[in-house]
Amino acid sequence: MRIALVAALAAVLVLLAVLQYRWSLEISRAERTRIEASLNTSVNQFRQEFYRELTQVSTAFHSEPTAEPEDFWSSYAERYQAWARTATRPDLVANVFVWQAGGRLRQLRLADGEFEPVEWPASLAGLRARVEEEPRQPPGPGPGGAWTLEERIPALVRPIYNFSGPRWRRFPPAPPPPRVVLGFAIVELNRAALDRLLGELAQRYFAGPDGFIYNVLVVSGAAGGTVIYRSDPQLTATSLNPPDARAALVPSTPAENRAIEGAPPRGGRGGRGGGNRGTFLARARGAFIVPSAAEEPWQLLARHKGGSLESVVAADRRRNLLLSFGVLLVLAVSMALIIVSTQRARRLARLQMEFVAGVSHELRTPVAVICSAADNLAEGLVGGKDQVKEYGGLIRNEGRRLAGMIEQILRFAAGQSRAANYHLGPVAVSEAIARVLASVSTLPEAEGFAVEREIEPDLPAVEADAAALTHCLENLISNALKYGGERRWMRVRAAKTEDGSRVRISVEDRGAGIDPADLPHIFEPFYRGKSAQAAQIHGAGLGLSLARGIAEGMGGRLDASSEVGRGSTFTLELPAAGPAGHPAAEPLRQAG
Ligand code: ADP
Repeated sequence: MRIALVAALAAVLVLLAVLQYRWSLEISRAERTRIEASLNTSVNQFRQEFYRELTQVSTAFHSEPTAEPEDFWSSYAERYQAWARTATRPDLVANVFVWQAGGRLRQLRLADGEFEPVEWPASLAGLRARVEEEPRQPPGPGPGGAWTLEERIPALVRPIYNFSGPRWRRFPPAPPPPRVVLGFAIVELNRAALDRLLGELAQRYFAGPDGFIYNVLVVSGAAGGTVIYRSDPQLTATSLNPPDARAALVPSTPAENRAIEGAPPRGGRGGRGGGNRGTFLARARGAFIVPSAAEEPWQLLARHKGGSLESVVAADRRRNLLLSFGVLLVLAVSMALIIVSTQRARRLARLQMEFVAGVSHELRTPVAVICSAADNLAEGLVGGKDQVKEYGGLIRNEGRRLAGMIEQILRFAAGQSRAANYHLGPVAVSEAIARVLASVSTLPEAEGFAVEREIEPDLPAVEADAAALTHCLENLISNALKYGGERRWMRVRAAKTEDGSRVRISVEDRGAGIDPADLPHIFEPFYRGKSAQAAQIHGAGLGLSLARGIAEGMGGRLDASSEVGRGSTFTLELPAAGPAGHPAAEPLRQAG
């Protein structure tokens, strides 16, 4: 029944462990999907917000097809002033240039809104050839003309054009007339402001309260290109390989652009004339931005700071598993402890029952003998000196047995084995042994018993409580008498240990020995060996438990070894008291 219960509990634990393991697997999969989805959202919101900031610029400088090239200057000057008044990031625009086909490049003086002819600056060198080439191409179909982000400069560039035919209209539908490129608007962006913008966005979308959760890079080109922005100064172009997420910072087609506009920006931040209105206007007016075809487009890369997403999820899972298996282990250990302590409690209850039965028997017998002897004496039934002597001896022996029994029970009840109750001092071992042997020699069991005594010469005294030591030895020696069997032989030996720091006293008999199943338990209170019970040898099972308690209380130890049919040896080891050969300082007290 008990085994079945233990097995059932173990099976439940194993089942829980298996379920926990599987569950953690599912949780980590779900967790991974969740983290990936949230990372994608962050990436898209980052791109969307970045794009929105750029479209604020492109929308501000977006012009309708114009017939009059002269309109350029005034129109762009006005646009810049309007932009600077309302923009959330006016520092994003570094310079505004307008180039008229066949003419010179002109730069807007930001201070007074005048355009002045300038030489092509070095920063726009790569752009010049491309820009000058465009008007020489045959007119393309209208309306077209998205803004391109020239990443290397960086600048937003768009052709200024008009239509060579009648004015194009949507209704009724007609094919758009060819468009003629008249020039280019070039809005050079401020690199430092762009850096700040990327930093703010990275902080907003890839960091938590304790700093960055992801390492973020903006690089030009697919792999190993120039680093445009890094969330951590230690990062290099290849340090996020492979990234957990990668996306072109500026979508390459307007359609893709609309796709990333799905999610609203975090925190509902809009600003003056910004946010959704900006993209809406950009879309309405065709102020789209596409990456430059001539350059490597910017890429946004993100990778979890704790390694790849895979390893972060795996580490989380390991931690969860460790935690839940730890809980299961605690559960298993406490279950085991409960089972063990219930078993102990049961055994103790059984032993106590046996003790009560045994003790009452043990007490009743001598009392009965004493009473009947006293009756006989009182009623004058005992005549003659010898008979009286015999009765006296009987009453004395039974009285001693009774006293011994009561002594043991009281000692046990008072917990006399506790160290605090001892007064330690040097005690001469040979004297203690002699005293005990003399006192037990009057016991009825001692009759005809051969005792060998081997006391090492120069044996040091032991550091002990004389009375307690006597009691302990009494227990061992009277057990040897009780359980010594037919051979009626015992040997008491005392010698130093090899290092001389302790004294070993052993009591050996050639009795029936102790069953190996009993041996580990004989020092437990109330425990009585099966053979002792079977042979009806008197006892309450307290002697050895008290003796060991005394030995340990005095800093020593008591052990037993036995061979069934050959006898038993009980060995008491106690610390030696100071230099060898010192006799006991105080006279030996009798136990009890
Ligand atoms: P008691 O002698 O009252 O039963 P003890 O605590 O002294 O209690 O001993 C516990 C048990 O150890 C005994 O019941 C007996 O089975 C066993 N035992 C003790 N000493 C010896 C010995 N010298 N030889 C064989 N068995 C012994």
